[in-house]
Amino acid sequence: MNQPSATRSPSRRAAAPRAAARPAAGAVSAASAPDSTRVIVEAITGAIVEHRLAPGAKLTEQTLAGIYGVSRTIVRQALFQLARDHLVTLEPARGAFIASPSVDEARQVFSVRRHLEQYLVEVFCDKATPADFRALREHMRQEQAVVSQTDVRGRTRLLGDFHVLMAQRVGLDVLAQLLSELISRCALITLMYQSSRAARHSSDEHVEILAALEARDVQRARQLMEAHLRATEDSLLYNPRTASADLREALGQGGG
Ligand SMILES: [Zn+2]
Repeated sequence: MNQPSATRSPSRRAAAPRAAARPAAGAVSAASAPDSTRVIVEAITGAIVEHRLAPGAKLTEQTLAGIYGVSRTIVRQALFQLARDHLVTLEPARGAFIASPSVDEARQVFSVRRHLEQYLVEVFCDKATPADFRALREHMRQEQAVVSQTDVRGRTRLLGDFHVLMAQRVGLDVLAQLLSELISRCALITLMYQSSRAARHSSDEHVEILAALEARDVQRARQLMEAHLRATEDSLLYNPRTASADLREALGQGGG
């Protein structure tokens, strides 16, 4: 069975570019070209999801090549892949930047995600076995342990993995891939538009969703999932009259 792209599967381990700058980076150059590309894609995706790389941040080929000990060709391949996932923008003559999604794009990403996750809840309710519920409960234990810590690292990722894991467990591999991409884009959006939502709330909602799923209560699980995703979107500080170019300045203004 095909696993969703290893790039963003729940078990992925992406190092921050800075962390990889240590001698361990040598391991990358020893790997084959596709592997090296994947390592860079995972690292940058991970840094975005964990809010360590900000929208609009410049990604210099030379610097990335140095950090990972690979050729600029490999770096370029990774950047193309990230651009295809809408996490990076490639601008002729200017280079690569972490994407800065517009308000309209952000709304569409959340809207598509809400629709897909309604479908996910229905299929999961219908097909999940006791082993699938055990896997989700195990994930919830990790999630609850992490959200209570102040260290944000890994937390956002675990919260997203709850959704991807649901799809994977019932064999919805294509959906799992699509959700992975959308969840990474959502992380970029919540970073850009300053979600004030606490991780604790998201995780507590996961607990409720899981309870409804275990009761095979499709209607309730659908409602809870809808409310869960709406709550994240509603917490965003959208300002429709602000041009997207100005939103980078908004990010620098601090606040909630
Ligand atoms: Zn969630």
